[in-house]
Amino acid sequence: GYHKVLEENRKLYNQVQDLKGNIRVYCRVRPFLGDQPSHYSSVSNVEEGSISIMTPSKYGKEGKKTFTFNRAFGPSATQAEVFSDMQPLVRSVLDGYNVCIFAYGQTGSGKTHTMSGPNELTEETLGVNYRALGDLFLLSEQRKDTIFYDISVQMLEIYNEQVRDLLTTDEIRNSSHDGINVPDANLVPVSSTTDVINLMNLGHKNRAVGSTAMNDRSSRSHSCLTVHVQGRYLTSGSTIRGSMHLVDLAGSERADKSEATGDRLKEAQHINKSLSALGDVIASLASKNAHVPYRNSKLTQLLQDSLGGQAKTLMFVHISPEPEALGETLSTLKFAERVSTIELGAARVNKDNNSDVKELKEQISSLKAALARK
Ligand code: ADP
Ligand code: MG
Repeated sequence: GYHKVLEENRKLYNQVQDLKGNIRVYCRVRPFLGDQPSHYSSVSNVEEGSISIMTPSKYGKEGKKTFTFNRAFGPSATQAEVFSDMQPLVRSVLDGYNVCIFAYGQTGSGKTHTMSGPNELTEETLGVNYRALGDLFLLSEQRKDTIFYDISVQMLEIYNEQVRDLLTTDEIRNSSHDGINVPDANLVPVSSTTDVINLMNLGHKNRAVGSTAMNDRSSRSHSCLTVHVQGRYLTSGSTIRGSMHLVDLAGSERADKSEATGDRLKEAQHINKSLSALGDVIASLASKNAHVPYRNSKLTQLLQDSLGGQAKTLMFVHISPEPEALGETLSTLKFAERVSTIELGAARVNKDNNSDVKELKEQISSLKAALARK
């Protein structure tokens, strides 16, 4: 019936997205928080693939502006809904893909909520990191008659362009890394969600925190949970490797908003530099530039092997609903637009993309027509 058609439509849509390429952009709007007085949201409308913002004249042209994404989530979206859209991407790691998922947005917009969850975790509020690993465990168990998987994790932090291992307390001396592997960083085998929770607790404790005018618990470091997967086929003995970087980026707000001086200002400058380096890399991958400027920040150097080429990237931008946050919201959406208004690259598995996309598009139109007739 009706739902089946919708479901089919969604599936085809995802397939088209897969064929279209390796960089996608999602957006999530945080709800107003419990103790906030209720007032107007600057987000006037959320559709499956777009968000509309009401802008007063002081931000340029007054009126409604709509931004499109591969997927948009409103304030009432649950952690489970958010994860379910990312699940195919996560699962592709077991098929040997490299995946990068970035949470981007100003401090307080919900990045950590999406990636890890709130401080008090329940089954419902578990973030992407836990769900992703849980799902990899589940799927590897299902495949155990054909393929044996080893799964291990690293947790790194980049603070003021210094890389630290969050699974110890030592500073990593040699930070001129070429690839995804930081030789000195602990790589810890995991086989259950409990393992992961214990490690993440250690990592979170080690993460640099300080206070700003905007949020006294804000992080001004990037944290990166890396999942390494190695699979060995039981019959042939051949192996495949995949990796997934789950990155909770430092707050993207401009320094003046936090009345930053001294150390805070220095932190803010490092953050701005690395976030724009990340934007430059993704934008240049998206426009298929021959030269990709990986070397402009530690973050992009560290992820070089996992950004571009065969890798799949998800930029997940987060915005706050408060009118006071509108300036930052608009610059976040501008960043999203910059990394997504793109000729998307081709995915590895499909050679004849154009005809496949064409065929899927035709199927979608006929399904849409079928829906309209209901
Ligand atoms: P960030 O990591 O971007 O600084 P947080 O994830 O810490 O922001 O979110 C700020 C506050 O808002 C936290 O108290 C968090 O639990 C809450 N919050 C964020 N997103 C949501 C959401 N989707 N639903 C409920 N609470 C949220
Ligand atoms: Mg955070």
